Amino acid sequence: MASNSQIKTRFAPSPTGFMHIGNLRTALYSYLLAKSQGGKFILRIEDTDQERLVEGAQDVIIKTLEMTGIDYDEGPGVGGENGPYIQSERKGIYLEYAKKLIESGHAYYCFCTAERLKSLHDENGLGGYDRHCRDLSKEEIEKNLAEGKPYVIRQKMPLEGTTSYVDEVYGKVDMDNSELQDQILIKADGFPTYNFCHVIDDYLMGVTHVVRGNEYLTSTPKYCLLYDAFGWERPHYVHLPLLMGKDADGNVSKL
Ligand SMILES: [Zn+2]
Repeated sequence: MASNSQIKTRFAPSPTGFMHIGNLRTALYSYLLAKSQGGKFILRIEDTDQERLVEGAQDVIIKTLEMTGIDYDEGPGVGGENGPYIQSERKGIYLEYAKKLIESGHAYYCFCTAERLKSLHDENGLGGYDRHCRDLSKEEIEKNLAEGKPYVIRQKMPLEGTTSYVDEVYGKVDMDNSELQDQILIKADGFPTYNFCHVIDDYLMGVTHVVRGNEYLTSTPKYCLLYDAFGWERPHYVHLPLLMGKDADGNVSKL
């Protein structure tokens, strides 16, 4: 979306817990990358996981950035041309884009019940979706929709081949497409999943460099496939190694 070559980064926390040092470092790196290049830095609140929202967490995020001098050029309270910057206020946008992917054959309606999906799990509660609804006929889909059956929208992953991208920190990352699940893009409550809405927002907000923790290193091929499906230019990816430290018991874990 960016009409010029100015770089743009973002910090996109979920108000599902309080800021920890790892989040703050991600914000700082993202901010510094933009500012060192004369670019812009956005704050976006990712609150689509409504069940996990923690009251007051959003204020803590905003106050922490204020206190540490990490000023954002666009975001809640500041505004900007690509708002709103709170995802729950953007709900309608995501469904519209998911429907575009259905039309182009990159996504599909799944009408499976919770019981059916549960029956696919093994004794450990693991096991992926079996792509049961991937090839429903047009008539079946229309009938289900007309009957008002609840649905989710899933990404239609390629069954063969490899998806690759180059991370600015880790180098080339390759993923066999056969490893990719047909992940949910829109949930039964109409809210998008993280996996979908952050991609749509990064594109619509003109984000050129995605800076985040390395726990997303292996999910990024799925996001690259979404950019490809829309015919959008992929952003640059900068995955940061996790900050590790010792907890009270002396165990090494993510800070
Ligand atoms: Zn299904």
